[in-house]
Order: sequence, then C-alpha cells, then structure tokens
Amino acid sequence: MTRKPLMAANWKMHLSIREAVDFIARLHEVVAGSEDREVLIAPPFTHLWAVREAMGAAGFSLAAQNCHWEEKGAFTGEISLPMLKEVGCGYVILGHSERRHIFGEPDEWVGLKTAAAFAHGVTPILCVGEKLEEREAQKTEEVLLRQLETGLAQAPAEQVASLVIAYEPVWAIGTGKTASPEQAQEAHAFIRGWLARRYQKEIAKNIRILYGGSVKPDNVDALMAQPDIDGALVGGASLDVASFGRIVRFQ
Ligand code: PGA
Repeated sequence: MTRKPLMAANWKMHLSIREAVDFIARLHEVVAGSEDREVLIAPPFTHLWAVREAMGAAGFSLAAQNCHWEEKGAFTGEISLPMLKEVGCGYVILGHSERRHIFGEPDEWVGLKTAAAFAHGVTPILCVGEKLEEREAQKTEEVLLRQLETGLAQAPAEQVASLVIAYEPVWAIGTGKTASPEQAQEAHAFIRGWLARRYQKEIAKNIRILYGGSVKPDNVDALMAQPDIDGALVGGASLDVASFGRIVRFQ
C-alpha cells in the first residue's frame, strides 16, 4: 500500500501562540523517528506564522481550518487561499462539521472552497460525516453521498488524487464516543468505493481517508489497523503533545 499515514492535529479555537510554539518545540522530540508518517498541524489563523517558524526544517505539514473561495475582496473576517499559501499552508480543512452545523455552512460553499483550494495548489481535507439521528435512520450513506457529490462537484479530476477526505461521524466528535474500528472501516470502504466509481480505481487507491471523532492514544492502534483508514484528524487529544505524539506513533 502506498498511502502514507497522515496524522493531523485540529486545534480548533484552542492554545495561545506561546503554547503553540512550545508544543511544536516538543513535537520534534516526541515524533522523532516517525518519518514514515506525515504529521500535520492545523492551528488557529493567528498562530499560523509562528507555528510555521517553529516547525523550521522539520517535515511537518501546516493546515488552516477554513478559507474563503475568493482570492480577495470585501469579505470582512475571511481569509483567502493566497494568504494561506503565503504563510506556508499546504493544506486546508474544509467542511468540518462544526462549520456545517454551528455556522450553517452549506454543502455548496464546501464545493466552492474545495475547487478553489485545488486551483491554488492547496490540498483540501474534505470532511464528511453523518449526525446521530441520520445514522439511526440508516441515512449514513445518503449523507456521505450528498456531501461527497457537492463537495467535489467542481474538483478537477486530474488533481483529485492529492485530495484528503476525513470521515468524521458528528456523534463521535468531542463526545468521547468513537466509531468502532469496524464502523469506521465500513464508512471508509464506502467512500473509497464511491471515489473509484466517480474517478478511477487507481485514483481512489491513492486518496487518503482519515478518521476523526474522539481519536485517542488508546484507540488509535485499532483504528489504524483497518485497511481503509489512512490517518486521523484529532481534536481534543491533539492539544497535549505527549498524547498527540503517541497517536502519531501508532503501531
Ligand atoms: P475530537 O475532534 O478528536 O475532539 O473528537 C475531532 C475533530 O473534530 O476533527
């Protein structure tokens, strides 16, 4: 298998700049020897520059947690993709469930942002996932299909191989309830199957699909053992460097 595991810290709206810089200084030691996996940090916008500097020449990746699809203009409070590139972001998290459900971000916006990210050479981490009531009503696949179809509606097929998808069941985010490795695998296999039909089998084989939702040091090994789980998008457990380090060093 050629997919390099991607272990991603989504800090959401946490940590001060000083705490972020201290975290990165310690991260160098904590993940030493883990070059066979990619380590990514998604700090708040205000911390990006300082985190990039603290990363130095280490091969860590940097992501923003959101962006706007326009390059510039009268969009108070928004951040554009050229701005993210200038600060060193290679990735951007798009369609996170907190954006969709707390801030009411529609599927179509996620599609516009994903297309814009590709156009600017920033790799989108497209988040998809069902709510508890949708899972209970057997609507998981329907929701995933809708979010994938609209999220990738304008994504250029020739660039899609670099895409990262994060499957994050909303009921597992920040709740301490993780999807079982089997439940997660089932959703990941469904997503990869859709990608193979929509694009090509070879392309689908190369796309990394991360799991997110209460990933912790004590459940990461079982999740990463699943054939279609290629990494993790970690919220709460990524705020402590020892715990995130253990997640990066999954076995
Ligand atoms: P969690 O968050 O690990 O705290 O559940 C994951 C996420 O929202 O990306």
